[in-house]
Amino acid sequence: MATTLTLTIHNFPPTVIPAHAEGLRAEVKAFITHQLEGVPPQTRAKTWTGFDAAFSKAFADRGWIGLTLPKEYGGAGLDAFSRFVVVEELLAAGAPVAAHWIGDRQSAPLILHYGTDAQRAFFLPQICRGELFFCIGMSEPNSGSDLASVRTRADRVEGGWKINGQKIWTTYAHQSHYMIALVRTSGTSEDRQKGLSQFLIDLSLPGVTINPITMGTGDSDFSEVFFDDVMLGEDALVGIEGNGWQQVNAELAFERSGPERIYSSLVLLDLWANMLGDDPDPADAARLGKFVARLAPLREMSVAITGLLAQGQSPLNEAALFKDLGTEVEQQIPAEIADAIAARPDKVADPDLLRTLAFLMQLNHVFSLRGGTREILRGMIARGLGLR
Ligand SMILES: Cc1cc2nc3c(=O)[nH]c(=O)nc-3n(C[C@H](O)[C@H](O)[C@H](O)COP(=O)(O)OP(=O)(O)OC[C@H]3O[C@@H](n4cnc5c(N)ncnc54)[C@H](O)[C@@H]3O)c2cc1C
Repeated sequence: MATTLTLTIHNFPPTVIPAHAEGLRAEVKAFITHQLEGVPPQTRAKTWTGFDAAFSKAFADRGWIGLTLPKEYGGAGLDAFSRFVVVEELLAAGAPVAAHWIGDRQSAPLILHYGTDAQRAFFLPQICRGELFFCIGMSEPNSGSDLASVRTRADRVEGGWKINGQKIWTTYAHQSHYMIALVRTSGTSEDRQKGLSQFLIDLSLPGVTINPITMGTGDSDFSEVFFDDVMLGEDALVGIEGNGWQQVNAELAFERSGPERIYSSLVLLDLWANMLGDDPDPADAARLGKFVARLAPLREMSVAITGLLAQGQSPLNEAALFKDLGTEVEQQIPAEIADAIAARPDKVADPDLLRTLAFLMQLNHVFSLRGGTREILRGMIARGLGLR
């Protein structure tokens, strides 16, 4: 076991964010602070699930969307560390980034890597301008954890493809222009990973029906999406037909390793730390110290994975380990702050703090579901360690 543990730690090489990336921080922070003036914390607590197209446009106008994309496609030509710094500032402040989030985080890198020249030239500049929003169409009613069993199907027809099927839990499909969908192009669901492909689907096409789903919080962050004989051109296929599984897995390392997997409760933690002030009682100080002690090494893990991604690696197991540990802390923060407040009925908590807490107590169970559940990640980690 000791050898295994050493190997695991070894996979997170100590990595320092370079000075040129840190150099972006002050300007980005000042811009976000100005933009979020007067926005209440319970709204900011949505962070990367808060949708605001005007914010995304203003952010893009500063050149901060598509930071890692080449300049010829409207990007900034910077590295993954620069993006890490910008994302960290967005999340720490609770900026509403959902409109451009998927495009910037995973659709654009996917199109850059696997797309044709024409696809790159069409999609990437629009993503960088904050004008084109994407959603991820992986999950289906009977294919969530068992993603290889997807049944939505694209059949070859003259001049392109015809799509039929259904996706579900598709975050902001009802507000997005395009979906990157994983669908079956050959074989049956029993063929598992073989015969899957990825398509760029224009959601305004005839035959696409999108029904928003309301969550327990009252928000409608995701939708179910139906495809009924939707006709797509040849150019809707991204990458190689039948290579969808490999392509999706490359996306998942981006999806699971960013600071968003540790900062979903940070607005609340900040409020609570402020409420405690300079002289907290010892139990509260210990609780706060524990959170900081857990978040700091997790952030180092995320920076280390950023470095691996920047080297062109696909650290799927490391991303799974980070996401599992990170979402556990994100979930514990609201639960433990609720306990701490309940333990001190003599102290009057700030109403903004209570509203933010109430919102996160309703939402925190999804932190370990979105992007792959805890059980599935632990299965991957066990396989990565050679234990299964
Ligand atoms: C807020 C939110 C946003 C989402 N956004 C998107 C999105 O934008 N696009 C998208 O495609 N999907 C999205 N999803 C869907 C998400 O990826 C799935 O919910 C997740 O993969 C689980 O799939 P499922 O819901 O079908 O649950 P199931 O796969 O049915 O799992 C149910 C339970 O059984 C457990 N389980 C399943 N198989 C195993 C196994 N082999 N071993 C042990 N335990 C197992 C799971 O861990 C889970 O606890 C989102 C989900 C949430 C909550």
